Amino acid sequence: MSIQENIAEIRARIDRAARSTGRTGADITLVGASKMNDAAACQEAIAAGIDVLGENRVQEMTEKLAQNAYDGAPLHFIGHLQRNKVKQVVGKVALIQSVGSVELLREIEKAAAKLALRQDILLEVNIGGEEAKSGFAPEALCEAAALARELPHVRVRGVMAIPPIEREPDGNVPYFRKLHALFVDINEKMYDNELEYISMGMSDDFESAIRCGSNMVRVGTAIFGARNYTK
Ligand SMILES: *Cc1c(COP(=O)(O)O)cnc(C)c1O
Repeated sequence: MSIQENIAEIRARIDRAARSTGRTGADITLVGASKMNDAAACQEAIAAGIDVLGENRVQEMTEKLAQNAYDGAPLHFIGHLQRNKVKQVVGKVALIQSVGSVELLREIEKAAAKLALRQDILLEVNIGGEEAKSGFAPEALCEAAALARELPHVRVRGVMAIPPIEREPDGNVPYFRKLHALFVDINEKMYDNELEYISMGMSDDFESAIRCGSNMVRVGTAIFGARNYTK
């Protein structure tokens, strides 16, 4: 199957899942997670109408930016972002989805202030409470959201999470429900319901994420095929 055919099939599945919640596929943003796929693959996805491309690694993103890989679609940063690489990302992407610490928030504020711009971000939540994963603990989200609101060069647009790896189909539903509830809570309490995005769901579980309220899914393998980690 080509990238184009994969995207068409995923769009159909997204639309079906969205309709089961009274929405349609048009309400869901499809982010192509294009890590380890080259500029030509990115351009193929853009030609096939992907909404956004998302990158994980700063160096790979910088190289592909120089090759105009993302021309024609917005770019998001979705991977773990080290503080010393913030300057290479702020102002280069429409949205940084993976902001999971106060230190990172402050570093982004500083870099965005220098460029005199406002950087859109999502607050990443460590929804499974996993030791090795980045993101705000669910209990810390409120405080982080309150702090972020006071930073003049950062604009919070919503939340994002990568739940633990589950073997059971629908195993992530409790985590998806939890992230949705957190989103509703901070949105009502702190953001006058102006937040927009709940980014959750990947190749194996985007339909159940959508049924739990996701409106932004990050899909890699199901679009681009299996990643070759030996290259
Ligand atoms: C790679 C990646 C995805 C997509 O994963 P697939 O299982 O290949 O769909 C989504 N989100 C993030 C943050 C990723 O790094």
